[in-house]
Amino acid sequence: MAERTLKRLSAYSGSCMILTTKHAKSIAIAPPFWSRLEASILEYVADTDQLGTFSGEVERSGSALDCARRKCEWALEKLGDKVDYALASEGSFGPHPFLPYLPCDEEILYFIDRKRGFHLHLSQLSEQTNYNMTQVQSWEALLAFARTAQFPSHGLIVRPNDRATQEPVFKGIQSKNELEAAYEVSRLYSEQGTIWVETDMRAKFNPTRMQVIGQLADRLADRLSCLCPSCHTPGWGKVGSEKGLPCRRCGYETELTKYEIDGCVLCTYRTIRGRPDGLTQADPGYCPVCNP
Ligand SMILES: [Zn+2]
Ligand SMILES: [Zn+2]
Repeated sequence: MAERTLKRLSAYSGSCMILTTKHAKSIAIAPPFWSRLEASILEYVADTDQLGTFSGEVERSGSALDCARRKCEWALEKLGDKVDYALASEGSFGPHPFLPYLPCDEEILYFIDRKRGFHLHLSQLSEQTNYNMTQVQSWEALLAFARTAQFPSHGLIVRPNDRATQEPVFKGIQSKNELEAAYEVSRLYSEQGTIWVETDMRAKFNPTRMQVIGQLADRLADRLSCLCPSCHTPGWGKVGSEKGLPCRRCGYETELTKYEIDGCVLCTYRTIRGRPDGLTQADPGYCPVCNP
């Protein structure tokens, strides 16, 4: 890969980046930023719930990407000119876009370098998640759900199911005692005695999600360690790809990726490189002429 020939010198060595989070995400983000960039992460604990919650009390306005960007801008605004670098992450959970029966976690990590004047974000789609929800009518059914949700290492949210306000809500439940208390109270508040239970997806209560954020943080730190060969701005890496891998038999340009495009976050310098798997010709099976 062309990337290997690039100079890897951390432009962020010794610097401090502000991470806007309410849920201790530096646990996952700080280690790769330290080991790859020698940059330290300082948490800015803000009430990001104002931008939307997973459990639906506050609807998220705009996309997950907007939300992640706003968290970064928030820190830069509130903390003033001394802060040059801001980071924030945002997750979305739901059915996999191609395999709808499979729940998945899509994480976005957003970075703003105010000093150099660029934004960079990466995302990661992972099937590695315990994301789930259901309604139950017995303690046994609740326990069965809890087991599949990796409770108690992973937190749960419990509330009455059939009351208009659906309150009270018990969040971040991480012990059997708390679960039992939440179950009893929710049952009292529910006319049908039905309880709503869901996995708590906030990073602090969800080690699996924390791990996915860590993998993404590692990719972002790696990307920030790559400098543009032309202007030396950090963040050099893949910005696109071009279709048209030629068919091995007839040469027709198929829909498969022909090459990948690397680019700079600041200047217009671009380079192309071959596919990561080294393929230069497509199997005729993918060709609309040979295999219509
Ligand atoms: Zn450049
Ligand atoms: Zn062909």
